[in-house]
Amino acid sequence: MQFDDDANLDTSEVKDVRGSRVPGGRATIGGGLVGIIALVLGLLFGVGPDQLGLSSGDQEPGPAASSVNEVQQECRTGRDANAREDCRLVAVVNSTQDFWRQEFARRGGQYSPASTVFFTGRVNTACGAATSAVGPFYCPADRQVYLDLGFFNELRTKFGASGGPFAQAYVVAHEYGHHIQNLLGTLQRSQDGRQGANSNAVKVELQADCYAGVWAHNATRTPDESTGRPLITNLTDQDIRDGLDAAAAVGDDRIQEKFQGRVTPESWTHGSAEQRQQWFYQGYRTGDMAQCNTFR
Ligand SMILES: [Zn+2]
Repeated sequence: MQFDDDANLDTSEVKDVRGSRVPGGRATIGGGLVGIIALVLGLLFGVGPDQLGLSSGDQEPGPAASSVNEVQQECRTGRDANAREDCRLVAVVNSTQDFWRQEFARRGGQYSPASTVFFTGRVNTACGAATSAVGPFYCPADRQVYLDLGFFNELRTKFGASGGPFAQAYVVAHEYGHHIQNLLGTLQRSQDGRQGANSNAVKVELQADCYAGVWAHNATRTPDESTGRPLITNLTDQDIRDGLDAAAAVGDDRIQEKFQGRVTPESWTHGSAEQRQQWFYQGYRTGDMAQCNTFR
């Protein structure tokens, strides 16, 4: 994955609160059994952590701005995105939202943007307080994506994904898929309290994977607002393989096998490794969100 060196990054789409202290307790990053269970439940989950019973009760509207906003200082151009992980993620957020903004416009609608919050350890959201243990998530109540960059190490070390820049991009694009669902009114279908291989929860998750693929298909041909040229200049077959590999690594069957030693489809929330790959690839192959009807 390569970015246009001369493109300007839009850091207003990212809130960098890494290193800021949040009242209410110490961070517990994937520690112990509770951490693992929370991680399994929360991984790439489409809803806020209050749904997971992890809320500590504080309902502050959102994280306060950090005094040192590293992203704003360091991530200015595509050249920075090619050099630094956090800047690369800013660029992915920019590319994803550029695509959806243009896609909504093309369909006669209007896209409403969602910020991504970079945090470490613990964060307060409109969906309740969360620790890094829940993994990346989207909170529909404040329309923000929450991301502890430390998760990407876990994706390799805990979940056995091959990693790579595009594995990270897939995770971000999946969360923006939930934002699209929120804007289109489909996200709430996952809120019926059911789980299992044929549940709406799984269908919503697979659709978010498909939307991530739709973005990937269009990423290298979506003009950036600062230059009129695509921000992402190159995606290789290896990038797509890294994305597919990450999608498989967070499949319910893989996770269950790894952490509980057996596969129980009746408690699936996100879909199997094969399904997640299939739907990401369906989006990537067609580039058409109309091909992402996982409810059919
Ligand atoms: Zn999800």
